[in-house]
Amino acid sequence: MTRTAFFWDEKCFWHAGGNYAFTLPIGGLVQPLAAGGLPENPETKRRLKNLMDVTGLIRALDAQTADPVTTEDLLRVHPKAFLDEFRTLSDAGGGEVGLRTPFARGGYELATLSAGLAKSALFSVLSGAARNAYALSRPPGHHCLPDFPNGFCLLANIAIAARAAIAERRAERIAVLDWDVHHGNGTEAIFINDPDVLTISLHQEHNYPVDTGDADVMGEGAGEGANINIPLPPGAGHTTYLNAIDQIAIPALRRFRPDVIIVACGFDAAAIDPLSRMLATADTFRQMTRRIRATAEDLCDGKLLLVHEGGYSEVYVPFCGHAVLEELSDSAITAPDPFAEVFAARQPNARLQAVYDEMLDELRGHFLVS
Ligand SMILES: [Zn+2]
Repeated sequence: MTRTAFFWDEKCFWHAGGNYAFTLPIGGLVQPLAAGGLPENPETKRRLKNLMDVTGLIRALDAQTADPVTTEDLLRVHPKAFLDEFRTLSDAGGGEVGLRTPFARGGYELATLSAGLAKSALFSVLSGAARNAYALSRPPGHHCLPDFPNGFCLLANIAIAARAAIAERRAERIAVLDWDVHHGNGTEAIFINDPDVLTISLHQEHNYPVDTGDADVMGEGAGEGANINIPLPPGAGHTTYLNAIDQIAIPALRRFRPDVIIVACGFDAAAIDPLSRMLATADTFRQMTRRIRATAEDLCDGKLLLVHEGGYSEVYVPFCGHAVLEELSDSAITAPDPFAEVFAARQPNARLQAVYDEMLDELRGHFLVS
């Protein structure tokens, strides 16, 4: 029987950036932090892997690493001039291309490895070698534009993997569901004209980027209708996330009938994430995974891959990730959420929930989902 595959690599935890305090460059009135650096640091991901080691969940999975993506893979998404600039700076000791995407010496190779984890995970799902898979990619990818890395994302991991699968005729139609709390602007831009890749992004409206992710961006040209944005106001919690999945994302997936579903899996909609103002919990991520897994089983023989994106609470991301991997693998090995009671108590009250429900109804009407 095939198992859930878990793609990770210690080297991805070694990707390092420059001098920031939170997202502000140090200097002027911005004092360096003692702990240093961007919120996108290795600890959230490493601690997820550590928790899986401690509970033993890792042993229930087919854990493996992967080769970096090839230049041919990269060129299906990123222009050569950008790749040359990135590689030259990386070889010369590191630096920054784009916005909030610093890297150290060798950052280029680490970014190609991170994309390689996503690609190999996708190929192993498509070949049937894995029942489903999780790629603990770092640096993340969903903000990266073809020639402009931004939002901690140096290469467009999921887009590179998806294009490789289509180019090698392992899949014809791919759906990307992005539940990272930030808009999947890179994935949207790359596939905006492409009718064969459905992109759905569920995000806090105008968080990052502040000027993308509106619901009226629905694709262009041949890709018209193949992009869905579900912007949610701050404070949305467990119920609103599940309603958005049930009422908009799943009907869209059913209409599209993909060969595989890829989830851009950020954990930054969680209640104590420093980069958002939402109220999702570990159980929210568990329930979303359960629903999307069931949808994949209905539509595409269970072919499902989750690729790690954001999530900045060092304490909470491990519990959210563990819940997702339990769901993917049907494992009975659990890591109970220590915050479950507190975060349940903090959910929107009935009066506020009615406002979120009304907003989702409007969005549903917008996408003509019945
Ligand atoms: Zn994010």
